[in-house]
Amino acid sequence: MLIRRPWTTDPTGGLDSVFATAAEAAGHPCSSDLNGTASFGFGSIPTTMVDGIRRSAAMQYLLPILDRPNLKVLGKTRVLSVKINQGRAVGVDCANAAEGTSQFIPAGEVVLAAGALSTPQLLMLSGAGDPDDLRAVGVRPAIDAPGVGRGLSDHPDITLNLEVSQDALPAITRNHQPGPAFSTALHFPAERTGTKNALELLITSTPNHKLFGSEAPQHGTQEHLLMLGLMSPASRGSLRLRTADPFESPFIDYNYLDAAGDQTALRAGLREILHLLTDSAMQEVFVSLPRLSGDMPNEEVLDDDDLLNRWISDHIGTRFHTSGGARIGPVDDPESVVNQRGQVHQVQCLRVADLSLLPSVPCRGTANTSVFIGELISDFMT
Ligand SMILES: Cc1cc2nc3c(=O)[nH]c(=O)nc-3n(C[C@H](O)[C@H](O)[C@H](O)COP(=O)(O)OP(=O)(O)OC[C@H]3O[C@@H](n4cnc5c(N)ncnc54)[C@H](O)[C@@H]3O)c2cc1C
Repeated sequence: MLIRRPWTTDPTGGLDSVFATAAEAAGHPCSSDLNGTASFGFGSIPTTMVDGIRRSAAMQYLLPILDRPNLKVLGKTRVLSVKINQGRAVGVDCANAAEGTSQFIPAGEVVLAAGALSTPQLLMLSGAGDPDDLRAVGVRPAIDAPGVGRGLSDHPDITLNLEVSQDALPAITRNHQPGPAFSTALHFPAERTGTKNALELLITSTPNHKLFGSEAPQHGTQEHLLMLGLMSPASRGSLRLRTADPFESPFIDYNYLDAAGDQTALRAGLREILHLLTDSAMQEVFVSLPRLSGDMPNEEVLDDDDLLNRWISDHIGTRFHTSGGARIGPVDDPESVVNQRGQVHQVQCLRVADLSLLPSVPCRGTANTSVFIGELISDFMT
C-alpha cells in the first residue's frame, strides 16, 4: 500500500491551515507523523491516495495479478454460507443474484474476509454461533461458538456542520490544493477528566457538496464537517441474525456509550471542539458556532454533564470502523472465535482474515490495519 501525506511541515492552505492555527493556539503540538510513536498532536493524515486516486486493497493487490492461472475472481457473487462437514470446512455456497444462479465451490481451505459485519453473519449462517440463538432463527448449529457476533468495537462519531462565511470564502479557496477529503487531524487525550481515552478531530478539506455530490448551497458559501471520534472506546456491541436468509441484514447493536468512561471522554472532546471554535482564526472563517440547544447558550449545556450526555446520545454516529465479532483468543475462552493464526476454533480448514478477529478497534482509521491482517494471515498459510 502506498502511503502519501497531503502536507509535511505546513498545511497547504484552506481550512487545514485555519484548523492547525487554532489547534496550535489551544496548546496542541504539531506531529510530523500521525502514524509515528508520538501519539498526540495535529498533523497531516497519512492516506492511500496517490495522484488523486484512492488506492484500495483490490487495486494494489488484485489487479496486478489477475492473469494468474490459479486465480479466479467471481464478481457479483455472494457467499451464502460455508459448508461445514463433521467439523471441517469443505467449501462455500454462493449465489449470483444478477444471473439468478447458485453454485457450491469446493475448497481445501476457506478464508473469510467479508468484514466485521459480514464475517460473523456468515459464520452464524454456517452454523457457528450460540446454538440457542441459531435455532431461534432456523439455522442448524454446527459448532457451539457463543463468541461469534459478540464484542463488536467501533469508533463512535459526532459530526458538526460548519458554514464558511462569504467573506472568508476567497481566502479559504485561494491556496487550497485539491486532495483527499480529510487532510488534517488532531489527536488528543481526554485528560482533563482523568480518562486516557484518545479522541480524534477531523475537518473536511473538501466542501460537503463536492464530498457528497450534492447541489452547492444557494447562498454562495460552503459547508464543511468537523468530526469527533472516540478512538479507544470501552463499550462493546453485538450482532445477531434476524432470519436465516443470507440476503437479510443482521441486527447490529453498537451499544455506544455503554461504558461511562466513553461518555466522559466524548463530553471532554465536545468541550474541546467548542473551545477551538472560539479561536479567532476559526471565528473569522465560520458563520456562527453550532448551537447545542435551541433555547440555551452553549456554555450552559457544556457545563451540565446530563444535558451534554443527552445531546451526545442524540447525535452519535459511526466512523465505519467496526471491528470484532470473531475475536482472537484461547480455545477455552468461550468469547473467542479464532486462534492467533485466524483459524476458527473447533473447525478445520476455516480462517478469518479481517477486522472481525480484533479484540478491539485500533485507535486510528482501520483500512491499513485490515490490509496488515490480510498480509499476516497469508504468511501463516504459506
Ligand atoms: C464510507 C467509508 C469510509 C471509510 N474511510 C476510511 C478512511 O478514510 N480511512 C480508514 O482507515 N478507514 C476507512 N474506512 C474503514 C475501512 O474501509 C474498513 O475498516 C476496512 O475496509 C475494513 O476491511 P475488512 O477487510 O475488514 O472489510 P471490508 O473492506 O468491508 O471487505 C469485505 C469485503 O467482503 C465483501 N463481502 C461481504 N460479504 C460478502 C459475502 N457474503 N459474499 C461475498 N463477498 C462479501 C464485501 O463486498 C467487501 O468487498 C471507511 C469505511 C467506510 C464504509
